[in-house]
Amino acid sequence: MDSETCGYNEAIENIRDAQYPMLKDSIYLDHAGATVPSKALMDAFASELTSVLYGNPHSGSLPSQLSTDQVDDVRLRLLEFFNADSDEYDLVFVANATAGVKLVLDGLRSIQGGFNYAYHQACHTSLVGGREEARHSICVNDEQVQNWIDGRNPFEDDSTTLFSYTAQSHLDGRRYPMSWGRDFKTARTYTLLDAASLGATSRIDMFHPDFAADFVVLSLYKIFGFPDLGVLLVRKSAEHLFDQRKYFGGGTVDMVVVGREQWHARKTAFLHERLEDGTLPFHNIIAAGIALQTHASLFGSMDQVSRHTAYLTRRLHAGLEKLRHGNGRPVCTLYSPSPESQSTGPVVSFNIRSSLGAWVTLGEFEKLAIVNKIHVRTGGVCSPGGIAAALDLQPWEMKKNFSAGFRCGMDNDIMNGKPVGVIRASLGAMSVKADVDGFLDFIREFFVEVDIPQLPNVSVSDLTGKPSLLVKAITVYPIKSCGGFTVPPGMDWAVRPEGLAWDREWCLLHKGSGQALSQKRYPRMTLLRPTLDFEAGVLRITCKDSLQSVTVPLSADPTLLEKDIRQTKTRVCGEEITAQMYKSVELNNFFSDALGIPCVLARFPPGGRGLGSRLNKAKMQKHQQADTVQRLLPGSFPDDVPSPPDSDSEQTKLKVETKILLSNESPILMIHSASVDALNEAIAQHGGPPAMTSAFRANIVLEGVQGNEDWDKRPAYSEDSWRKVRIGNQTFSLLGACRRCQMVCVDQETGERRQEPLATLSKTRRFNGKIYFGAHMKHDEMSGSSEDVQHPTIRIGEPVVVDG
Ligand SMILES: *Cc1c(COP(=O)(O)O)cnc(C)c1O
Repeated sequence: MDSETCGYNEAIENIRDAQYPMLKDSIYLDHAGATVPSKALMDAFASELTSVLYGNPHSGSLPSQLSTDQVDDVRLRLLEFFNADSDEYDLVFVANATAGVKLVLDGLRSIQGGFNYAYHQACHTSLVGGREEARHSICVNDEQVQNWIDGRNPFEDDSTTLFSYTAQSHLDGRRYPMSWGRDFKTARTYTLLDAASLGATSRIDMFHPDFAADFVVLSLYKIFGFPDLGVLLVRKSAEHLFDQRKYFGGGTVDMVVVGREQWHARKTAFLHERLEDGTLPFHNIIAAGIALQTHASLFGSMDQVSRHTAYLTRRLHAGLEKLRHGNGRPVCTLYSPSPESQSTGPVVSFNIRSSLGAWVTLGEFEKLAIVNKIHVRTGGVCSPGGIAAALDLQPWEMKKNFSAGFRCGMDNDIMNGKPVGVIRASLGAMSVKADVDGFLDFIREFFVEVDIPQLPNVSVSDLTGKPSLLVKAITVYPIKSCGGFTVPPGMDWAVRPEGLAWDREWCLLHKGSGQALSQKRYPRMTLLRPTLDFEAGVLRITCKDSLQSVTVPLSADPTLLEKDIRQTKTRVCGEEITAQMYKSVELNNFFSDALGIPCVLARFPPGGRGLGSRLNKAKMQKHQQADTVQRLLPGSFPDDVPSPPDSDSEQTKLKVETKILLSNESPILMIHSASVDALNEAIAQHGGPPAMTSAFRANIVLEGVQGNEDWDKRPAYSEDSWRKVRIGNQTFSLLGACRRCQMVCVDQETGERRQEPLATLSKTRRFNGKIYFGAHMKHDEMSGSSEDVQHPTIRIGEPVVVDG
C-alpha cells in the first residue's frame, strides 16, 4: 500500500516538527552519510545517564554490574533486531562498520599461508582496503559472482577466501542478493556482508533461509542517528577464523603473564569477549538500547520505515527523471536504477546537464544547495568501483585525473568532458514528501532552463555557409616523430588547447644529449608504431621490423617515471621543455635497439597547460594572429611561418621571437587532399613515384565531395588563403602554411629516404627560398555551456565549412 494514502507521511511530518527541530526550514538528504538523532532519544539518554550511575564494566562494583547487564541486554536486543539467532550468531561491538571489517581482516591476516580476497565493485572504500592484506585479491562484478556460483573459482588456489559485498550500494541504492556466497562451491570461502547502507532503512533478517553471510557489519548511527557505534555479527561456524588473531587487549584475556615468561589465556566463552579489546563503549551501548526503543516508538517497525522511504524514493526518482529543459532535453542523468523496475534503497544519485548538454559542476551545485539549506552529498562518496562503473571512467582515466591533480573532495570535477563524481540524495525514516518536493523545486528553479538561449549567445561557431569538404582522416602521433595512430571512424576525438588529444604526449630523448629525437635525423622512427588501446588502458608500441612490442600505461603512473627533474629538461625545437623520463631499462632498450641509438622514453606532465610543459608544435607568428591575418597567397608568403611540427630547424630564429612565441596553443597540422593530388600530378609529369598522404604527417586530412552541387568546392592549394575552418561544431583558425624539409621524403612505410616529393615541391611550392605544404591551425576555444564547449571533439566524415 502506498504510504501516502495511509496517512503515514502526515504522521511523520508531525514527528519531524516535534523531534527534529534542527531540521526546521532545511532539507536534509544525506541520510546515507548519517541520519539524525531524535529529541526523544537524546532526552531519554540524558535522563538515563543523569539518574543512573554506570561504571566500567570490567569489575564487580554495583555500577559496573549495571553496565555489564545493560551491555548484555542491548547485545541480545540488537541480535533480535536483526532477527539473528543467538545460537548461531555472536554480536561484537565496534566503533563503526569499518572497524568491523578491520576486525575480520585482523583474524584472516594471521592465517597460515594468507588468504584470498574478492570484493564486489560496488563496495565502499572501507572494504576495498582489505585487498592490501590479501595474498591475492580481485574486484568482481555481478557476472563474475554468477560465474563463481556456477562453479568457476576466481582464484587458482583454494586458500581461505573472503568475499565482501554490499547489501545495498551507498552510491546508487542498488541492492544485491542476500544469498550470495551461499552457493559458492569453493571450500573455505566466507562472506562478509556490508549492511551499513541497507540496514539504515530496512529490516535485516538474518534468520531468513537465504541469508548466507558469515560476517555482517553495520553502523548504528545510520539507523538511529546516535550513538556513533558499529556492530559486527559473526556466524558461529566462522568463529575459528579468529583463532590465530594475535593481538589481545584489556578485557579479552582471562590471564596474562608478563616478565620472563610470556603467556596468556584468552577468554573462551564467547567470541565477543575475545574481540572487544579494551573498555567497551558502554555509554554508547546503553544509548543504542534506548535508540532501539525510541526508534520503534516513533516510526514503528523497520518495514514501515522501508515502505515510507521507498515511496519517497519513487517520487524523487520519477521527479528528477521527468525534469526537462525548454528544448526537451533531460536535466538529470540518473545513475540509480529505477525503483519501479528493480529493488533499490532510498538513494538517488545523478548529475545535472545544461540545456546544451554540458555537465553542471558539483562545486556549482553544492554552493547553490548550501545557500538554499539543502544538505546533500556530492563527489565520489567513497565508492571507487561504483563511480567508475556509473560514470564509465576507465582505471587509466582515474589515474590520469589523479596525476593531473584531481583529489577526493576537490572542486574541479569535470575532467576531459566527464564528471568525476555524483550528486547523491538519500532519504531516511524522518524524511517527508516536502523534502522531496522542495528538492525538486530547487533543481527546477536553479537548473532547468526554460528559455533556451539563442545560438549566438552561447558562442557556437559563427562560421556558417555551404560545407566545402569532409574530414577524410584524423591521425595523432602519440610519440613525437614516430608512426601515427589513425583515429577509427565513428570515434569522437577530443580537441585540446594544445592540439588533438594524445598527440605528441610522449617523445624519445637522446640518452647523451637529452635532445628530443626527430625523424628528420632518424628516419627509422617511423617504424615505431604506437597504438592507443583504451580497453587495456595502454599505449602499445610495436616495431615494424622486429614485430616486438612494449606497452606503457595511459595513466601517468608516477612510479614508472624518473623523479629527478633536473635530468629531464630537454630541448625541442630550441625550446626548453620539462618531460618525465621512464626508468624501465627494458622499455628504453626496446627503443634504443629499434633505432640503434641510446634513447629513453619521456612523457609530458599531465594536464600541463603551462608554458613549456608541452611541445610547442608550431609557433604562432604576429602576422598570423586573428586580427592581422594576411591572405597567404602563393608568391606572397610572409617570411616567418611556423616550422613543421617535427622539424628541429629554426632554432636561432625562435630565440629572437620568444616574445610572440609564448603561446602554449600548439596547433594542428591539416592538409587538403586536392593539394596532394595536384602535387602527385606534377610528380607524375616527370615520371616520379606518387607521394603518399602519410608523408606529410598531418593530423587532419580534408577531402572534397565529388559531384554534389550543394558543396562549395575548394581547389588544390586554396588552403593557403583560408582564414578559418569549421569542422562539425568546432572552429579552427589557420596559422599559416607548414614549412617543409627533407622529412617529407621519408617513406612512412619503410623508413627509407627518397627524392620525392621534396624535389617536385621545391619546384612548385617554393616561395622566398622556402617550401610549404599544408597548414597549421589551432582550435578556437569557446565559452558557454554546451557539450561542444565543455568537451570539444571532431570525427571522421564531419562536414567542413571554410572561411576565406
Ligand atoms: C557508511 C558506510 C560504510 C562505512 O561506515 P563507517 O561507519 O563509516 O565505518 C561502509 N559501507 C557502506 C555501504 C556505508 O554506507
